[in-house]
Amino acid sequence: MIFFYPGPSKVYDEIPAYVKQAHTLGILSMNHRSPEFVALIKKTVALLKSRLEIPKNYKVYFTSSATECWEVIAQSAVINKSIHLYNCAFGEKWYATTKPLVKKTQAIIFDREQELDPNELMFKDGDTICVTQNETSNGTQVSNQLIQKIKRSNPRHILAVDATSSLAGIYLNFKAADIWFASVQKCFGLPAGLAIMIVSPNGVKRINELNEDTHYNSLIRMEKMMNVWQTTHTPHVLGIFLLMKVLEKTKAIQGVEQQTTKRFNNWQTFFSQSKKLLFLVESKKVRSHTVIAIRAKPSLVKKVKHESKLKGLLLGDGYGSLKKETFRIANFPAINSREIKLLQNFLLMYL
Ligand SMILES: *Cc1c(COP(=O)(O)O)cnc(C)c1O
Repeated sequence: MIFFYPGPSKVYDEIPAYVKQAHTLGILSMNHRSPEFVALIKKTVALLKSRLEIPKNYKVYFTSSATECWEVIAQSAVINKSIHLYNCAFGEKWYATTKPLVKKTQAIIFDREQELDPNELMFKDGDTICVTQNETSNGTQVSNQLIQKIKRSNPRHILAVDATSSLAGIYLNFKAADIWFASVQKCFGLPAGLAIMIVSPNGVKRINELNEDTHYNSLIRMEKMMNVWQTTHTPHVLGIFLLMKVLEKTKAIQGVEQQTTKRFNNWQTFFSQSKKLLFLVESKKVRSHTVIAIRAKPSLVKKVKHESKLKGLLLGDGYGSLKKETFRIANFPAINSREIKLLQNFLLMYL
């Protein structure tokens, strides 16, 4: 089966060999307080920073999922009020996860065809702004430029960005926000169970000021432990090792982005031939480059999904309220050109 599901998705072809290597090298039983672990985590963080162009003075923490990152931000980064900008399911879930954990929350819901207008996004109150950079459920994205403008309009706020389905697939300007996070089963091409959080000096300042220290995964604890290249608990050591191995082999993010964009443009051209399979989002400006959401009649969606599965091509279901009328295709780096061609050849007869 080739997994075009936008997460968990296809893992890199080398993963089975890396797992075997991890066993041979003793990684699977490695003590997380050992100097070997310190060396592993140091190297992984250095590779992340160089491959993804993360500023040197940013911190990297490890968690187990993007969902955990939502909770951790609510626990240890929001002071009184968080403001959530979203247009579909993942942004909404982030909001719903935060609501019971902080004093005040505000949801600003925008239309999926609409670009956010930074002039309308200057906040007098609140202390944390939450943006879903790539909305996996409907295939839209918020540009680097917009994220930067939102931050500039709200210098007092911490800007937190969920980039789960885009981080490591496109170039992200980390300087423009304070907290970024992603789990690795999407653009990193790895098995699930690990997530990374990238925090600016301003974000670290907030963590220190708030000093929230009542959870095993409080950010202040992660911060203190990572200062000595340690984690608060026994982490997913194999996951970190696989991340390191994958990063060693991948290109710098500019090169990865070139490939993502080229493939995305190819998908746009491909579906532009069709009157039946259409991009869910009409505005090209807001279309995600890593998650392609296609709309069609429910009967056709059902047929395409069923037939493709029989051919060993797993498409992503539509998400939430869009379930019946959409399917999704991951445009993640681990999927190769030959596999894309296979899927396109299959889809040709439904165009
Ligand atoms: C997949 C996804 C999540 C959830 O990730 P988990 O690792 O399952 O917690 C959160 N946000 C976005 C945008 C996603 O695509």
